[in-house]
Amino acid sequence: MDVSVVLPVYNEEENIPILYRELCEALAPTKWAYEIIFVDDGSSDRSWEILSGIQYQDDRVVAIRFRRNFGQTAALSAGFDHASGDVVVTLDADLQNDPKDIPLLVAKLQEGYDLVNGWRYERKDPFLSRKLPSRIANWIISTTTHVKLHDYGCTLKVFRKEIAANLRLYGEMHRFIPAIASGLGAAITEVRVNHRERKFGKSKYGISRTIRVVLDLITVKFFLSYSTRPIQIFGLLGVVSGGLGFLMALWMTIQRQFYGMSLANRPLLLLAILLMFTGLQFVSLGLIAELQSRTYHESQNKPIYVIRKTLQTENHQRQ
Ligand code: UDP
Ligand code: MG
Repeated sequence: MDVSVVLPVYNEEENIPILYRELCEALAPTKWAYEIIFVDDGSSDRSWEILSGIQYQDDRVVAIRFRRNFGQTAALSAGFDHASGDVVVTLDADLQNDPKDIPLLVAKLQEGYDLVNGWRYERKDPFLSRKLPSRIANWIISTTTHVKLHDYGCTLKVFRKEIAANLRLYGEMHRFIPAIASGLGAAITEVRVNHRERKFGKSKYGISRTIRVVLDLITVKFFLSYSTRPIQIFGLLGVVSGGLGFLMALWMTIQRQFYGMSLANRPLLLLAILLMFTGLQFVSLGLIAELQSRTYHESQNKPIYVIRKTLQTENHQRQ
């Protein structure tokens, strides 16, 4: 199998037949061995009937049905677990992404990249509720994760199966796939892709998504930078806070002891105590996180590094 196309589907009954036709038209000229994996994320409309009909006629199609709605991230994960291609393609099932772009992204991947992200440079979505928050989010995600991309929200992506196999996605984390992949040492680039207006069905998200994205960003940043050394972030916070509190307390002790100044009317005293306690808390939290991190890595035999390749001569013949 060369290519696995993964599509999350949630109440997209009108879109599926058109999408399926467009996918076939886009993939037929490529001569790839491919599979199309639809993951029905607990749709309540006729999506599943339509998908099972398509699957019945075409054995390159795989249809997976969730018991309830688990969200787009879960749907994509299920698709990755099922994918057998060397290259994994993801796109939305609402026709906003254009299947015609798939060969372009795969060609870019073959130039030597591990992940190619779509960039909807002429995005056909409302400005205030979509494009503006997205622009801010892209800037924040790019600067905090140091993976500079214009469009983290674009589901149309292409990546190698090693990346898919190592992605562990929770919450709403599918949009951080490039950032997580860069933690695995992937070479990443982006390609401009077509974007179309949603014609059928409704968007599944509102503006409330923004706060969840920010929270997930904190998790991703922590995992990327500190998951193997949590004491270095919590310990730092603790030392700064505790140290500051200690200096204040010391200063006030000197004033009290040598200059006879009263401490009863000094709000600073409270702040000093608060800072010292916070410092202690941070350091303890860091130590507990260190324990957790060891459990996380060692219980799963998950090394703290990712090897690209090992060159070795059998039996040390060349010694
Ligand atoms: N989707 C899903 N589960 C959900 C929400 C969405 O599988 O809980 C799918 C949806 O069917 C579509 C894709 O994820 O194929 C993107 O959703 P949508 O178009 O609503 O997002 P937007 O483009 O508005 O960001
Ligand atoms: Mg959409």
